[in-house]
Amino acid sequence: MSVMIGLEVHVQLNTESKLFCSDSVDTRNKAPNENTCPICLGFPGSKPKLNKKVIDYALMTGLALGCRIPEESFMSRKIYFYPDLAKNYQISQYESPLVGEGYMNLPDLKIRIRRIHIEEDPAKLVHVGGDITSAEYVLIDYNRSGIPLMEIVTEPDFTTPKQARQFLEKLSSILEHLNVYDASKEMSLRVDANVSINGGERIEVKNITGFENVEKALNFEIIRQSGMARMEVKIEREVRHFDAETGTTKGLRKKEYEEDYGYVFDPDLPIIKVDRAWVEKIKSSMPELPDQRVKRFTSQYKLNEYTASVLIYTDKHLADFYEECCKLYKDPIVVANWTTNELQKSLNWRSERINDSKVKPKTFVELLELIDSNVITERYAKELIKEYVDTGTSPKELAKKSIVKLSKKDIESAVKQALDKNKKAVEEIKSGKTESLQFLIGQVLTLTKKQADPKEIKALILEMLKKQ
Ligand SMILES: [Zn+2]
Repeated sequence: MSVMIGLEVHVQLNTESKLFCSDSVDTRNKAPNENTCPICLGFPGSKPKLNKKVIDYALMTGLALGCRIPEESFMSRKIYFYPDLAKNYQISQYESPLVGEGYMNLPDLKIRIRRIHIEEDPAKLVHVGGDITSAEYVLIDYNRSGIPLMEIVTEPDFTTPKQARQFLEKLSSILEHLNVYDASKEMSLRVDANVSINGGERIEVKNITGFENVEKALNFEIIRQSGMARMEVKIEREVRHFDAETGTTKGLRKKEYEEDYGYVFDPDLPIIKVDRAWVEKIKSSMPELPDQRVKRFTSQYKLNEYTASVLIYTDKHLADFYEECCKLYKDPIVVANWTTNELQKSLNWRSERINDSKVKPKTFVELLELIDSNVITERYAKELIKEYVDTGTSPKELAKKSIVKLSKKDIESAVKQALDKNKKAVEEIKSGKTESLQFLIGQVLTLTKKQADPKEIKALILEMLKKQ
């Protein structure tokens, strides 16, 4: 079976103001329809003014993806009748996008970028009493209307859902390094995914948020479509909605073709002219990009490429955090191991990103220093880090509070207790079963709140068993 996947990625750009007016794009803690004005509400007679920063951001993204930059492009009105647009058209680009063809390299795969264009975000529809297919009624919040979007369109070069996810993770990291979008904002990156099998019609799954969800939606579609193919049901072009709760897609409507929209040139806005001097100026101010940063991490911190990639592609701020810690702690490899393993695990468990968490470089390296100076064992540090991520209390303080220096007597009594409670395991050890020994060590560790050394416990168990 052959699978073809293409993506359209909508990114909310983190400019100060909207695409065509001076309203703020920050809608957090705002009442519905508070960030609006005659322009983004599309009042008759209002005139849009193009935000230059949006062009800069899209050009930066284009250059980061090796794209061709045409000298001219213009804005068009995409005409459709739907309440999320008060004007009955969306100002977008169709005939001539701001940015042309480019590419992104993935491991063993090159994904071609078809185009990048800019457009305004429509209003947010709130479906009350159900989802898009079952709501009782719909509320409209125009705060989102007019927020600048950049749409990145790929060629259908992906053959697996996993590749699509890798692409999105890398794209997100590039955008974060360019500082053109805020990954922590809900809905700041939305994906329309096209998928077809065996050269058949494309199915478009609209408006998916979250990279894991994109992968799930595509997996579901491939299974659904191959089931249809097996039963010889014809697959028709269609737009579907992904339901994250059930991990399934639902049919929304028959797919319209782009040419079904009446696109007309927007006479309110000037032709966008990007001369070479503008492009050169942006090129010279480009920050370090993820691929370059991975290379630097391998030489500067002697990390392997895999670990460097995890740090950089998981979250740009995690890589920043890592570099701050390296200034405070001697061994960059130890910092990388703790950051990508235990720290990331604790953050994931709390669904937190490093920047929103209470974790700070200065206190994080304390944890590593406590292990170095034998105040806590590595095993105990793995427990302590959870409390540290939860509370942000410095590991030194936590250790002071929770560590009871165990005497040999304390450990002996814990071992005795474990042996008494687990007679069956004791018998098994005597008959040579080593798994049972591991089990007993685990029991003693629990009894001593993981503060005793497993080697010492093992020796004590064996010693006591000899005496029995
Ligand atoms: Zn406005």
